[in-house]
Amino acid sequence: MQHPEVLLPPFAADDVLHNNGFIQQLAVAAKNTAFLCGVLLPTNEDPTNTEAATYAPFSLFPSPVPKKLFTEAYEVQQDFNILVDRVSQDSEFLTKALASTVQVDEFTAGLFSIYKQVLEEGITQTITLGINRSDYMFEKGQDRSTSLKQIEINTIAAGLAGLAERVTDLHRHVLKVCGKSDEAAKILTNNAVKGIAEGIAKAWQLYGSPEAVVLFLVEKGSKNLFDQRCVEMELWGKNIRVIRRLFLDVHERGVLDDEKILFVDGYEIAIVYFRTGYNPEDYHNDDCWVARLLIERSKAIKCPDIATHLVGTKKVQQVLARSGMVEKFLTDCPKSAERIRATFVGLYSIDEGPEGDEIIKKAAEDPEGFVLKPQREGGGNNIFGEELKQLLGNIKDGPKRSAYILMDRIKPQTVKNYLLYPGSALKLSECVVELGVFGVYIGKCRKLVMNESPGHLLRTKSTEFADGGVSAGVAVLDTPYLI
Ligand code: ADP
Ligand code: MG
Repeated sequence: MQHPEVLLPPFAADDVLHNNGFIQQLAVAAKNTAFLCGVLLPTNEDPTNTEAATYAPFSLFPSPVPKKLFTEAYEVQQDFNILVDRVSQDSEFLTKALASTVQVDEFTAGLFSIYKQVLEEGITQTITLGINRSDYMFEKGQDRSTSLKQIEINTIAAGLAGLAERVTDLHRHVLKVCGKSDEAAKILTNNAVKGIAEGIAKAWQLYGSPEAVVLFLVEKGSKNLFDQRCVEMELWGKNIRVIRRLFLDVHERGVLDDEKILFVDGYEIAIVYFRTGYNPEDYHNDDCWVARLLIERSKAIKCPDIATHLVGTKKVQQVLARSGMVEKFLTDCPKSAERIRATFVGLYSIDEGPEGDEIIKKAAEDPEGFVLKPQREGGGNNIFGEELKQLLGNIKDGPKRSAYILMDRIKPQTVKNYLLYPGSALKLSECVVELGVFGVYIGKCRKLVMNESPGHLLRTKSTEFADGGVSAGVAVLDTPYLI
């Protein structure tokens, strides 16, 4: 069902979308069902309050997603897993790729200095566990075709698997209430959390100490609390013990024994699963940095280890997009390299020099054609349009520009949907979807013993916003309806 400009939900031919009375009732039922399904967030007012919750913003209908692109995203995920794993083992590459960034970006420099220190001491853990999520938009071609284009890959704290799984049930219910049972039955099951928990469980087994626990490293008052709890429940279901701790807890009560086994509050830690630690604010003070170093030096399996964390920086993404780079890491699987490369759009270094000068000039002339990205995660940090032009003007004459990269701005296919946010009026919006596919892999003595793409996440935002994730209050949870 294709319209020249927008993709519509599968039932758009019906009056449903435009029958205001019905939509209002449906939205109320959907919000109630969101609570029942566990599509939840802590409240904005007091995220630490354990007595209250709100529904996580979601789209009223599942959004249409081209089946071909969805399948491609799943297929290429295993290629990305291999790539991330290999890049994380190449210290020469990482050092070179990040050399200019660490000169001017204090946060990346802090991570990099931990990386250097553990490299010098020698890495004590031979098992790696990677849980990542590669995100895409569907770029609109000249001829109305769409193609899968990567936004970024998240190698640390890749979240929303739990809530994404639960939105599936919610959307099935909504379609049934609309009298669309056949369409409801077509909504795919999403196994994101199960897959992530299986990865953690397998790594836990390989660690080989039945008494050891999985430590979820979290922040106080995290908006992702319920999402994290979904993974936690799945692990308890497998009789694997989980504890939740802050960086400061690890600093105060974490120790390494003579064999570098990590203990926190007396528990031996098999795996540290990072759901924090990707932004400067996550390190409130030096003690948090000391805790990160303690974890990295330990024998615990880090998900991710510091090297894999660094692979997820925007700078490394840009360097990997250079001609021949992905191919160099995947010489034994050229098809994988080809699939990966097909998802890339232009990414550019703006380091000082003629190459950087030229692209800065181009972006200043066409600010809508690019996105300026610092080395930050979590939404709301990128710079677009006029602001991009201004900032480039401010930084172009000094080394500070190495803190950023430029990326071609993807012009995505749009869809129509109702986005439900707590406290907002209901309106039909023109939206952009972003598909994420989760990757789970385990490396043992440099060989992959698990390589999976178990599930997905669909997030949708109004075209009014250029940037922003679910936690940032801009994007909403959605489910793909394959067309
Ligand atoms: P973060 O680490 O903050 O999530 P992303 O690279 O994922 O950073 O960008 C955040 C958001 O900005 C994306 O979810 C997307 O909406 C928008 N965005 C990022 N890169 C592009 C791009 N190249 N073209 C269009 N939109 C983009
Ligand atoms: Mg992102």
